[in-house]
Amino acid sequence: MDKLISRTTIKLVQGDITKEKVDAITNAANEKLAGGGGVDGAIHRAGGPEIMKECDEIRARQGGCPTGQAVITTGGNLAARQVIHTVGPIWRGGNSNEPALLASCYHESLALAHRHRLRTIAFPSISTGVYGYPTPKAAAVALNTVKEFVSAHQGIEEVRFVLFDDATYQCFKDALASLEI
Ligand code: ADP
Repeated sequence: MDKLISRTTIKLVQGDITKEKVDAITNAANEKLAGGGGVDGAIHRAGGPEIMKECDEIRARQGGCPTGQAVITTGGNLAARQVIHTVGPIWRGGNSNEPALLASCYHESLALAHRHRLRTIAFPSISTGVYGYPTPKAAAVALNTVKEFVSAHQGIEEVRFVLFDDATYQCFKDALASLEI
């Protein structure tokens, strides 16, 4: 499913983000940039040790990546040239600033892509796995934040959401269909 917003195509696909041929894929990382399960583990396994080497350097320099922020590394052996690592909020019931922190993940990742003149970027569904954010709510935050960013900034041609399972894909499809543009 596709939607054109300003000059950017928002595309939804179901699949494995480690296989995407884009300028950058985004990783749902943790604050220590230490790797882990889920999409984070899959990206490090597929991309090889170069990615962790750069994460180690970032950790040595600035102590990791706070929730809602983003950092960029090589894509290592991936088809994607770079990986943007962002740290989503852990869902604590919804009154702990989760929506603003999740919006910040998408905004900061897009801002980093924009600064690096990247044209195509892929996102997984940040925070909706181990971090427990309800997927319908997360999908609405994700798509609204992307819409606002691409309406205000030119240069990113495509933002692709790569959703791993059918239920997540359906949530994003519903959210994109009801997105007001
Ligand atoms: P978080 O800790 O931010 O919740 P997870 O990795 O646990 O991150 O889950 C985030 C989403 O990523 C979930 O929808 C999960 O199914 C999905 N996911 C897991 N592996 C992949 C993959 N290879 N490609 C795309 N999405 C993936």
